[in-house]
Amino acid sequence: MSAPIPQPGILGITPYKGGDSSVPGVSEVHKLSSNESPLGPSPRAIAAYRNLAGELHRYPDGASADLRQTLGEHYGLDPERIVCSNGSDEMIGLLMAAYAGVGDEIVYSQHGFLMYPIAAKVHGVTAVAAPEKNLSTDVDALLAAVTPKTKIVFLANPNNPTGTYTPASEVKRLRDGLPADVLLVIDAAYAEYVTRNDYSAGAELVDAGENTVMTRTFSKIHGLAALRVGWTYAPASIAGVLNRVRGPFNVNAPAQAAAVAALQDAAHVEAARQHNDLWLPKLTEGIKALGLEVPPSVGNFILIRFGEAPKDAAAANAFLTGRGLILRGVAPYGLGDCLRMTIGTKDENLKVLAALKDFVSA
Ligand SMILES: *Cc1c(COP(=O)(O)O)cnc(C)c1O
Repeated sequence: MSAPIPQPGILGITPYKGGDSSVPGVSEVHKLSSNESPLGPSPRAIAAYRNLAGELHRYPDGASADLRQTLGEHYGLDPERIVCSNGSDEMIGLLMAAYAGVGDEIVYSQHGFLMYPIAAKVHGVTAVAAPEKNLSTDVDALLAAVTPKTKIVFLANPNNPTGTYTPASEVKRLRDGLPADVLLVIDAAYAEYVTRNDYSAGAELVDAGENTVMTRTFSKIHGLAALRVGWTYAPASIAGVLNRVRGPFNVNAPAQAAAVAALQDAAHVEAARQHNDLWLPKLTEGIKALGLEVPPSVGNFILIRFGEAPKDAAAANAFLTGRGLILRGVAPYGLGDCLRMTIGTKDENLKVLAALKDFVSA
């Protein structure tokens, strides 16, 4: 018997598992497991999406020209150096395919986003995790992990699932410390939520050289996760490479139209930001007051650290799901004692606070 044999490393991949959206036996559930927006998408984005229902026989614009133009105007960036993708997850794979291969290495942070090591394995690339300090990226550790085999350094800023961020000066120090031929990927999926004045999503570092890209997404603050739209700002040479590697129609037409409409609805984005600004500190303080550790987050989610059994993270997860509150276990990130909670609606947030209070005091 013989059968096709996958490339080395492929069978070693543990498939990425999205946040749960149901609990057996519980009818009313609140999904706080995937960092989705509690406000949902802009009504204008929904209208734009519906508007294309009769055009499903048409191929999308393979260049995503309107979307890149709108992004360029919105952020003051050159549309020619923007590349759109089927979610920013696709872009992680495209960057890997384009810049790293069998025997090469990529470096990422210990509790960094799981798609980096997964995409690495797909391409026979070794993912090297650099240790963190206080659940935060340690630039010196990232730099120390770089070897002559390193092709890409991935930095999620803010990081998921820790919620912590790397200040702009530290990101610049990272870039300055890397060899010029090592690509720095700044994954700024949560940039719109950050209100710190020492934070930058990274566009200026992209402009400063030929070796840094910034990836962004419509899945988080814009509430369009179902449609899979991401975008990347890159030096012209790298944009040219990505346009060669990507599929010719990688972003579908209703997704492009909805993303344009979402970007134009500034009031909706502002409402999502304000909701987060209100509840991020409330939840953080409320949960800390119960005696649980919550690292300072700047995203639309928080990490909650639990203690020893019988009041450990697994027990908390069971308790919460019993009430229909679905958080995210983060053991695959090396954080088996924590759960990640997406900031939800007011009602959802209050339910979690009440449930955690009961869990802690039970
Ligand atoms: C959610 C998330 C993304 C993925 O976004 P998509 O555009 O939905 O693929 C990328 N990076 C990080 C750090 C994320 O948390």
